[in-house]
Amino acid sequence: MWRSPFLVRFLTLCLRILVPDRCPVCGRGGVAPLEPFCRGCYEELMRIKQKRKRRCLRCGTVLVSEGRQGCLNCLNQRWYLDGLFVYGSYDGILRRAVQVIKFEDGFRVARGISEIVDLSDIPAVDLVVPVPLSKRRLLRRGFNQSLLLAEGISRRLGVTTAVEMLLKVRENPPQSLLEGCRRLNNPRGAYLWVSGETAAERILLVDDVLTTGATLNECARVLKSVGAGEVYGFVLARSDGGV
Ligand SMILES: [Zn+2]
Ligand SMILES: [Zn+2]
Repeated sequence: MWRSPFLVRFLTLCLRILVPDRCPVCGRGGVAPLEPFCRGCYEELMRIKQKRKRRCLRCGTVLVSEGRQGCLNCLNQRWYLDGLFVYGSYDGILRRAVQVIKFEDGFRVARGISEIVDLSDIPAVDLVVPVPLSKRRLLRRGFNQSLLLAEGISRRLGVTTAVEMLLKVRENPPQSLLEGCRRLNNPRGAYLWVSGETAAERILLVDDVLTTGATLNECARVLKSVGAGEVYGFVLARSDGGV
């Protein structure tokens, strides 16, 4: 069924005016320790920090054996990303929160979540770059959820957000529809750095959900081709079930 994101957001806004204390993630009311979440959602989102798993620093796969920085799948691939930081698995409350960011209440939930996520392992960077949406998708959604997250994160890190410096210039099939090595090459050529200046020395790319790491890797390749020295990635959630 077709639904207008603008209509959904308008109705959400109306509901919020009528019922101001409603938590956008679970729909329940209650005292919010951190706007806009209720206590239950806030504590559950905070608990993700403690449940952090060891992950491959390139593709984000959960690592089972000790002592490795990367997974076996990444050994033979060309990676441009210097490190990847994943807040949690794309399930449970994080999945619900991402859906709310995309389709219902992006501004408040993205801002709230960017206050919660653990940034302690991220090295010093000079610029935060959101993974862009294509123009068509941006028009349909009305905003880029990765930009909303990137703005909150760059505020906490005390650095600038790159707005419309990296663009998505080609639509590629969703990673979830492809298999194996086709996923890695799928985003090739889809991104372009359009700022007249060279990229900053150390960059943090921000995205909401990661499937294989190929998108971040391609963005990192583009950023390094225009002068970036180190490029790291931060994603809110990684799809660990191969979705
Ligand atoms: Zn809640
Ligand atoms: Zn890997």
